[in-house]
Amino acid sequence: MTQTASGPTSQRAADVVGVTKLPPAERYDFFRVIQSYLDEAAKIVKVPEHVRLILSQPKNEIIVHFPVLMDNGEYRLFKGYRIQHSNILGPFKGGMRYHQDAGLDDFKALAAMMTWKSALMNLPFGGGKGGIKFDPRAVSRAELQRITRRFFHSLGSNVGPDYDIPAPDVGTNAQCMAWALDTYINTVGMVKKEDAMGVVTGKPVSSGGTFGREKATGQGLVHCIMEWARRSRFRLEGKKLMVQGFGNVGANTAALLATLGMSLVAVGDHTGYLYNPEGFNVHRLKQYVEQNGSIAGYANGQKISREEFFAVQADLFVPAALENQIGPIEAEALQVRLVVEGANGPCNPDGEAVLARRGIEVLPDVLANAGGVTVSYYEWVQNRRSEQWTLEEVDERLERAMLDAYDRMAQFARQNNCSNRVACYGVAAQRLAQVYIDREIFP
Ligand code: NAD
Repeated sequence: MTQTASGPTSQRAADVVGVTKLPPAERYDFFRVIQSYLDEAAKIVKVPEHVRLILSQPKNEIIVHFPVLMDNGEYRLFKGYRIQHSNILGPFKGGMRYHQDAGLDDFKALAAMMTWKSALMNLPFGGGKGGIKFDPRAVSRAELQRITRRFFHSLGSNVGPDYDIPAPDVGTNAQCMAWALDTYINTVGMVKKEDAMGVVTGKPVSSGGTFGREKATGQGLVHCIMEWARRSRFRLEGKKLMVQGFGNVGANTAALLATLGMSLVAVGDHTGYLYNPEGFNVHRLKQYVEQNGSIAGYANGQKISREEFFAVQADLFVPAALENQIGPIEAEALQVRLVVEGANGPCNPDGEAVLARRGIEVLPDVLANAGGVTVSYYEWVQNRRSEQWTLEEVDERLERAMLDAYDRMAQFARQNNCSNRVACYGVAAQRLAQVYIDREIFP
């Protein structure tokens, strides 16, 4: 992704093949950043060199080009990606992102992160990620459907319920997953419905989805926040919250924290930032965004700049938009006690070093936003068994899974005197390394 830590670049990436764009002034090497966390963890955990070598690159990098007939009668050629990082623990698993700035390196980074996340959460999944380089807000619903269907058709048997299982991410949602499932069923031929259902997760409940998936990532974040608050003897009620990104993760997290008595005082998305010292009515703001597509024009807040947003006096900050949003400038400006990474990779390493110096704690993405993939796993299990669990069952399992993983991270960090992030990578690396030690390399 081409955002810089001091603000997203305004350059619009070409979503159409053949249109050139100028390279951004300074490219953020997201994949190398993720690799550096493994390197840090490997200083503590004994990861055999060959395991590090294998995990240093994705197993498969799939790039497809496919044409789509647009509403105006013209054809456009799109570029789609599916990066499959590791399947040593189980099928590749990870979201599909539609974004105009997305590129190969970002998908490689996000796919690798999924490997670490699944391993930390003890899920029988590996890591994958993919998507299409285009702005989904700039196309009609009918075009979005055709783009999604052609993309999944192009991927063919590179995805499958036992091989690679996509899910929603930035710019995609349950509706996109319903189209993806339907395309897959119509492409693979005669298969049992139960056998095909698990090809994607994050589906609508009416089409094989699970209760609790829509809010799962936010719910997982909230379990982590509550556990942090319990361990830190910090009372959440009456405290102030700021959220960057008000989509699936940001809005659900804010809504759940509002029920705990927290007050959302600052919020931002791709259109800008709003401030309300009295606290937003999160429910109304969420409804507004569902109807209008963004926070732009919402009446009950004062417009502020990105710089002013990062300097707001609050207690908790949930970045829930994109990677590389918190660099040294933002980290110096933040006036909070805790940063909880809803997004993948929102803090860059320089920003994180400033946060550490200033004593601002971080609950890292690999743990904090793992509620999404965890409930995706529950959905996949239900699809395989033709079952439908209740919301209570899903919530109960998720809470236990998040608290167990939190405990694994905290114990590792305490025993090895390292950051929470390195601890998450350490726990995951231990699990992966052991599998390679047991199974060795074929042939
Ligand atoms: P989404 O598309 O529903 O929402 C993204 C939000 O970010 C929108 O409000 C958008 O306006 C905002 N945004 C985009 N560009 C921005 C910018 N330059 N500055 C400020 N805001 C910007 O996506 P989502 O599913 O909520 O995902 C958000 C983050 O959470 C991503 O990093 C994603 O990888 C991560 N994540 C998502 C899930 C999930 O289950 N959806 C699970 C784990 C992690």
